[in-house]
Amino acid sequence: MKKVLAFDIDQTLNVAKTPITDEIADLLIRCLDHFEVCPISGQKFDQFLIQIVDPMLKRGVVATQLTHLHLFVAQGTQYYRYLPSGKKLGPIEVSVVKPNIPYSRNHWQQVYNHPLKAEQVTKITETIEKAAKELGYWEETKLKPGDEIIENRLSQVTFSALGQKAGTEEKYAWDPDCQKRKKIVARCKELAPEFDYEIGGTTSINAITPGMNKEFGMTHMLDELLVKKKDILYFGDMTQPGGNDYPVVQMGIDTITVRNHEDTAYALRGILGIL
Ligand SMILES: [Mg+2]
Repeated sequence: MKKVLAFDIDQTLNVAKTPITDEIADLLIRCLDHFEVCPISGQKFDQFLIQIVDPMLKRGVVATQLTHLHLFVAQGTQYYRYLPSGKKLGPIEVSVVKPNIPYSRNHWQQVYNHPLKAEQVTKITETIEKAAKELGYWEETKLKPGDEIIENRLSQVTFSALGQKAGTEEKYAWDPDCQKRKKIVARCKELAPEFDYEIGGTTSINAITPGMNKEFGMTHMLDELLVKKKDILYFGDMTQPGGNDYPVVQMGIDTITVRNHEDTAYALRGILGIL
């Protein structure tokens, strides 16, 4: 039996950039009793809390269950685990802590972090802006106040064509066939070939140093959780070549391709139903 269920977030567990539904929260909580559960995505840590952890808390997840939730932030270039007492514990101690210790977000411990260097962030930012402007895809006038197109997520730089705060429908409509982003990526590759550019979400491109993609995160997941590839089942919506879930497929990890969180819920009901 699989020991780890790993999930892409946007379009796999939720509608891009929004919190998971009650149904997904309930299913993930049930999964915590049987599996190590590992969301891995290009999002920042705060977004993992808003989109995944807070909805699970609302649905009654307890601190001991959260010890089985492992957050692989920024494509797994950062890893956070939950320590119910706030103190570092070995795996055996985790299983005997009292079940009703109150949750605190301060009990999330960053286990590792592999950030980009400042000069890499500058180079990527300039490159993407130049490429998008040349192609006529620099949508500055459509941004909401205080929003930004290019965001430094520490381990990666992310282009979001309409910013972070744009409406979901507007985002879906911007590049449904990925053609705009493929053109931006092709131009970025000419301007700064030393970086990798991946298409993700609905309007996003993630720029990373080669190898700092989900393969990096999944490889660290294997090390941190002391499991083998065959122990992991991965869910993602961008598993096609060039998609940000494709490195996981290439690693030979068993993968379920979903179109949206409803497909994921359907698969999880099946998995939980036969346990
Ligand atoms: Mg996705």
